[in-house]
Amino acid sequence: MEKNKRTPVIAGNWKMNKTPAETFDFINEVKPLVKDADCKVVFCVPFVDLESALKASEGSNIHIGAQNCHFEKSGAFTGEISAPMLKSMGVEYVIIGHSERRQYFAETDKTVNKRLKAALSEGLKVILCVGETLGERESDITEEIVSKQTKIALNGVEAKDLENIIIAYEPVWAIGTGKTATSDQAEEVCLYIRNVVSKLYNKEVADKTVIQYGGSMNAKNADELLAKTNVDGGLIGGASLKSEDFSIIVKAASK
Ligand code: PEP
Repeated sequence: MEKNKRTPVIAGNWKMNKTPAETFDFINEVKPLVKDADCKVVFCVPFVDLESALKASEGSNIHIGAQNCHFEKSGAFTGEISAPMLKSMGVEYVIIGHSERRQYFAETDKTVNKRLKAALSEGLKVILCVGETLGERESDITEEIVSKQTKIALNGVEAKDLENIIIAYEPVWAIGTGKTATSDQAEEVCLYIRNVVSKLYNKEVADKTVIQYGGSMNAKNADELLAKTNVDGGLIGGASLKSEDFSIIVKAASK
């Protein structure tokens, strides 16, 4: 399937930034800037900001997501939030397996798989993050790493569920560092991931799967990255905190 048959998704990952009041103002500020987008627009905000993000985005083309969810529905998991809790609020998307969760919060491929399945079973759409560290790239094992992460994350997931999963290729060395993968590097790994999905399911499923690039995407480099055939949008950290920059990226994905 050609690129233009997949709808690109530009998703902001705010990480641990903005209060509920700031969220409300920001979403209202960004709404008119992205209202004509020819791509999906999502903001994944901190848990405490979800309510004000949902309220501010009502009636607009902005979709709201969380940045994580637990694999159990409820129980003794202090500090965690479950998929049914998110669903009950009207949240649509959730990021699973972000490298910062893997790095600082002991997230493993297995817990990523459990969280992803919990989210899907509640009808949430998942943005699944995979990507290699600098050491892994330098050791020439990028493909092994993203293949392993993708296969374990999708273990036990049916083909029909892939339409509710976006895969974000996020090289860890490019996240929050200002170092972007070149558009050729991004294309190469996104295509590789598409082939992994094809082998796990089939070509038709792989052709329909949205695969984003994430890692220091910004208003300046978005055009070139998003022009690549297998790059179907972006997961945007830093630049999603600035309405003008974010809207330029949305425009680049809408071409
Ligand atoms: C991210 O947090 O997923 C990300 C890509 O961050 P940044 O754009 O800041 O590198």
